[in-house]
Amino acid sequence: MVSVLKDIQQDLRVRCRDVRVSEPLAPHVAFRIGGPADVLVIPADMGELRAVIGYLLGRVFPFAVLGRGSNVLIADRGVRGVVLKIGRGVDRVTFDGARVIAESGTYLPHLAALAATRGLSGLEFSAGIPASVGGAVVMNAGAHGHSMSDIVARVRVLTPEGERDIAGADLGFAYRTSILQAGPAVVLEAELHLRPEDPDAVRERMEAWLRQRNETQPVGPPSSGCIFRNPPGDHAGRLIDLAGCKGLHVGDARVSDVHANYILNSGAASAGDVLALAAQVRQRVRAQFGVELVLEIKLLGEFDDAAA
Ligand SMILES: Cc1cc2nc3c(=O)[nH]c(=O)nc-3n(C[C@H](O)[C@H](O)[C@H](O)COP(=O)(O)OP(=O)(O)OC[C@H]3O[C@@H](n4cnc5c(N)ncnc54)[C@H](O)[C@@H]3O)c2cc1C
Repeated sequence: MVSVLKDIQQDLRVRCRDVRVSEPLAPHVAFRIGGPADVLVIPADMGELRAVIGYLLGRVFPFAVLGRGSNVLIADRGVRGVVLKIGRGVDRVTFDGARVIAESGTYLPHLAALAATRGLSGLEFSAGIPASVGGAVVMNAGAHGHSMSDIVARVRVLTPEGERDIAGADLGFAYRTSILQAGPAVVLEAELHLRPEDPDAVRERMEAWLRQRNETQPVGPPSSGCIFRNPPGDHAGRLIDLAGCKGLHVGDARVSDVHANYILNSGAASAGDVLALAAQVRQRVRAQFGVELVLEIKLLGEFDDAAA
């Protein structure tokens, strides 16, 4: 494995300027938790991204994809092999009337602000979601009764069979999921269809939703957003609150007092702390309501089998 990785590092350096060895992943994810990647590759633009993915798929070498890292928990032991981070640089945006094509690393709140300035409605819900466009499509990110599935017309992906377009209608969108979660497709860009509207109305709606978010969700300590999926017809946060979990903590991982479905990293929490706390929360909710909560965050790296 070590000599294969050495070869791969060298080959990757020919294709990408930013290849890091034994790179701690905590600074690259919203939770600020996690051990090192054997190799972290950060393409500077779409050309480098295509070259890196083409190479890894060609060698049939497994790799993990990270967008803005806002919905992942990285293992304390880190991630073996290659992690590909898609963000800054892979973020070109092209407007054509109400149609927008955004590269997968585009920061979603930035795209929402650009659309609002142009008087284009449809992305207001996303202004407070710290995602990349690629990660938001894969997760079908949403808020305020809207989600990416409302606006995604098409995505371009790279798969072992090559590059192809998939229509939004064929992405299997449902609550916080899409067929893209099954891998191994990497999202290169997304085409979104927005609606022309008065720019002030779009901006006002976006600001009102941001205010509402700031009043009802914790701002400040690192987190990965909601930790559990909402069970059908209910809210995980409501059940966790009623089960008396607010303020519960394991090490520096703590259930938020503001929104019970958030686990915060209030200092130096480990992934182990987060999962131990999540297990306690699950157990209390199961005991009180008979509801089995399911993690919304994605686990990345070397976890024990029981972790998920
Ligand atoms: C403070 C906070 C608030 C949040 N609020 C919300 C909210 O209101 N609504 C909501 O839905 N979510 C919310 N989230 C969660 C998170 O922002 C979303 O799930 C988002 O879609 C993740 O995007 P990302 O780019 O950070 O993806 P990551 O977390 O980096 O990755 C998520 C998954 O997508 C995959 N992936 C990422 N990019 C690609 C790509 N280009 N190609 C293929 N696979 C890819 C990864 O492998 C991983 O499996 C919040 C998170 C935080 C920290």
